[in-house]
Amino acid sequence: MNGVATTAALNLARHLQGAGIVNADVLSVVAKTPRELFLDAALGHKAYENTALPIGQGQTISQPYIVARMTELLLESHPKRVLEIGTGSGYQAAILAQLVDELCTVERIKSLQIQARQRLKRLDLHNVSFKYGDGWKGWANKGPFDAIMVTAAASSVPQALLQQLADGGVLVIPVGDEVQQLMRVVRQGDQFHSQTIEMVKFVPLVNGELA
Ligand code: SAH
Repeated sequence: MNGVATTAALNLARHLQGAGIVNADVLSVVAKTPRELFLDAALGHKAYENTALPIGQGQTISQPYIVARMTELLLESHPKRVLEIGTGSGYQAAILAQLVDELCTVERIKSLQIQARQRLKRLDLHNVSFKYGDGWKGWANKGPFDAIMVTAAASSVPQALLQQLADGGVLVIPVGDEVQQLMRVVRQGDQFHSQTIEMVKFVPLVNGELA
């Protein structure tokens, strides 16, 4: 992406640094990614506030702090091939695509997927594959992945995602109902080690039918 940092995006990155984000690569990518491109024009004036915002279909673009926090957790293991569940607006995908070699992303609402694909193309991000499907199932024939990030709240950790993690791979996922625990699960052989990070609030990872 030929991103030039705008003042507003740079200020957002500085704010996130103040809020505890330490990974310099994550901060610099936030500073050069135009978040307003991922929102309706009517919400553009709020694009660089550290808040979640509606993106239609009852879904939300995550709060920038959470995007940055989950991204830095995921990068700790230096993943090359990454799976994201819940493409939504495509903002988190745009951030990840600038930090890893290859990103695969799954979304169950077709209209959101189409918009996200157009936005990433417009930003010249071409290392992303999109799937219209059920994130509970992951993306088996693209796996295994060095890391998986789920950007919707799961009632439990989806088994398919654990199976699609490479050895040493890491899964970052919010687990719970109304509010959730952000969890990091690391695979070591056939063992999975979980750690809770902080409380978060995501829209649900919907079960079953595609929209
Ligand atoms: N990463 C997104 C956040 C979107 S909110 C962003 O940066 O904007 C969560 C997204 O997960 C929504 O778009 C929702 O449609 C999607 N989602 C919910 N359940 C899903 C499922 N079972 N499979 C795939 N996507 C799902």
